Amino acid sequence: MSIEIIAMGGYEEVGKNMTAVKVGEDVIIFDMGIHLDRLHIHEDTNIEKMHSLDLIERGVIPDDTLMKDVNGKVKAIVFTHGHLDHIGAVAKLAQRYEAPIIATPYTMALIERIIKGERKFKFNNPLQVLKSGEKCQISPDVTLEFVHTTHSIPQAVTPVLHTSEGIIVYSNDFKFDNHQKLSPPPDYQRFRELGEKGVLGFIVDSTRAAEYDQVITHSERVARVVLEDILDQPLKEEEGIIVTTFASHIERIQAISEIVAKSDRKMLLLGRSMERYCSLAETMGILKLPKNSSIYGSPKSINRALTLADENREDYVLLATGHQGEPDALLPRIANEKTSFNVQHGDNIIFSAPVIPNPLNRANRNLLERRLKSKGARIFTNAHVSGHAGREDHRNFIRMLNPAHIIPSHGDLEMLTAYAELAEEEGYRMGNNLHILRNGQAQVFNDEGEEVKN
Ligand SMILES: [Zn+2]
Repeated sequence: MSIEIIAMGGYEEVGKNMTAVKVGEDVIIFDMGIHLDRLHIHEDTNIEKMHSLDLIERGVIPDDTLMKDVNGKVKAIVFTHGHLDHIGAVAKLAQRYEAPIIATPYTMALIERIIKGERKFKFNNPLQVLKSGEKCQISPDVTLEFVHTTHSIPQAVTPVLHTSEGIIVYSNDFKFDNHQKLSPPPDYQRFRELGEKGVLGFIVDSTRAAEYDQVITHSERVARVVLEDILDQPLKEEEGIIVTTFASHIERIQAISEIVAKSDRKMLLLGRSMERYCSLAETMGILKLPKNSSIYGSPKSINRALTLADENREDYVLLATGHQGEPDALLPRIANEKTSFNVQHGDNIIFSAPVIPNPLNRANRNLLERRLKSKGARIFTNAHVSGHAGREDHRNFIRMLNPAHIIPSHGDLEMLTAYAELAEEEGYRMGNNLHILRNGQAQVFNDEGEEVKN
């Protein structure tokens, strides 16, 4: 029996992740994501009415048309976590396969939201919730296990396939964070056990591998301390405070809400995606917002809340979307005077997010900061730590798993190559047991050795 790793998306970009693993005749798909930059869209945008072939052509979702050449049957579609570059294409692609969708409870709740909003396709795939630490039988030859990991969204897992040919580990995305409030540390012990059993193939997140000065990625605890220090003085003063971060970063939002709760101010969470991620997390008992916080998702309710906050700015902290400067997101709309909240001299704007480095974001963000500054706002940037592992985290992970073969993923060629360089330092050799794939290529492991298929 052979095992084939098929790179569907996310091997030439950070976005639209999708990998298929073929074990004999059984195919297991990992992730079906979208590539946000390609459409000039962001976490608040709708793609519900668009057709999948149109989206494939624009490079927004993975090109799964090559699955028709794969001689096997899809047995499961497995999702690692709820970020859109991993689940965003589910409603466009999953309906083509007669296979269950498997995900942790929070990821599944987000998937259900996407499916509900879909306007183009009908959806009949069974939904099967699997928690971290649990296993399920996919076929007589394949068992799936979810190993707990940490990332920048709750309930992220590293799926593991146990097959008669060996173990396959799919690690997109992760960081090693031992100090989150809402999540225990990754299950290092289980990773070591898997390493001792024998991992055949390791598909791994290379997003930060090219950042040579990032030795290990700092814990969320570091972001908490930075935010505490930034907010300390402004919370005691009377000027406005707006914090902007990823709506899906529940750990960060929990931290911000706890800092604000120690003051006399109320926190208002504003934006469609804030409402989507945070209300779900709150309902599921993951996010525990202090009593004096409120979430507003509809344009009307947001505007009412902003009017109130504009008149009584000393009583509120606003948590808003729009950290990349996307013109139709909330913070840029506030800066462009398109809402009832007017930024005034001395107001504090805190970016708890990095600039996601592409030319469009850089331009948008630069414009946003200049607009805010021209109104006399104080700007605090980089109150953030990454959700992706640094180079030495990667080295630790390789040593824990000791895989026979490594396939870096979740990055452009520069990132994949930077990861490969690190793996070579650990004794791996390109083309031998270290493989760089492009979207549409496959790596085969069989009794006669390995080969790359195009
Ligand atoms: Zn992610």
